[in-house]
Amino acid sequence: ELKLDRLSREFGTLNALKEVNLTIRQGEFIALLGPSGCGKSTTLNILAGLLPATGGGIWLDDKRIDQLRPEERGFGMVFQNYALFPHMSVEDNVGFGLLMRGMSKAERKKRVDEAITMVRLNGHGHKLPGQLSGGQQQRVAIARAIVVEPPLVLMDEPLSNLDAKLRLEMRAEIRRIHNMLGATTIYVTHDQEEALSLADRIVVLKDGVVRQVGAPDELFANPNYLDVAEFMGFRN
Ligand code: ATP
Ligand code: MG
Repeated sequence: ELKLDRLSREFGTLNALKEVNLTIRQGEFIALLGPSGCGKSTTLNILAGLLPATGGGIWLDDKRIDQLRPEERGFGMVFQNYALFPHMSVEDNVGFGLLMRGMSKAERKKRVDEAITMVRLNGHGHKLPGQLSGGQQQRVAIARAIVVEPPLVLMDEPLSNLDAKLRLEMRAEIRRIHNMLGATTIYVTHDQEEALSLADRIVVLKDGVVRQVGAPDELFANPNYLDVAEFMGFRN
C-alpha cells in the first residue's frame, strides 16, 4: 500500500501541490489525470525521489520513504521522451540498472531477456535505439523500468510522442504488462479516454488539488464537479 499524506510542493509562491492525500493499493493501476500545469509531473517526480516535497510524507507499506534517494526507492520510471542511451544497445539500455546494482553477468542476462520478452522485443536486443521505431523505443524504456522488478512503476505521459495508431496499441500493451507484473502503476495523462480505458481508479487533479478519485465508471457516471464533468468529456 502506497500512502501520500498531505503531500505538498511549493515553488516560491506557487502551491503546485496542496496537501494531497491518497491511498493506493498494491497492484492497482492508477491514472493521474488533469489539465496542463495541475501538478501531475510534480507528484510523480516527488514519488520517484527526483524532487523533494515541501510538506507531507510518503509511506510504502508503513515505511516512510520520502527521505530516501531515488535508487533506494527502486521505482521504475518511464518518461515521455524515452531517455534511452543512444550509443548503447537495447540489451545494455535495459540492463543498465542491474549493472548499477552490481548483479552478475549471467543473472543480468536472464533478467534482461525476460524483460525484453515481456515487452515483445525479442530479436531486437543488439540494435541501437536509433534503429527502432518510436513504439519500440518506448517498449525499451518500459523494459528498463520493469527489469528491476519495482514495487511501483511511474509513467509520465509515456505515449504522447507516438502517433494515434501506435498510442492505442501501446495502451493495450501497457495494461498487459501491468497485469503480468503485479506491480502498482501510476500513469500520468491529460487524456481522459486513456485514463478511462487503462485505469482501475482515476485521480483527477486540478490546480494541485485532488478533485475526485474513483473507478472509471464512477467518475463517468457521477462527476463531482463541473470541471471534472467537462474533463470527462461532458458538455452542457
Ligand atoms: P503538463 O500536463 O503540462 O505536463 P503537469 O500537470 O505535469 O502539466 P507540473 O509539471 O506538475 O504540471 O507543474 C505544476 C505547476 O508547477 C505548474 O504551474 C508549473 O509551472 C509549476 N512548476 C513545475 N516545476 C517547476 C519548477 N521547477 N519551478 C517552478 N515552477 C514549477
Ligand atoms: Mg507533466
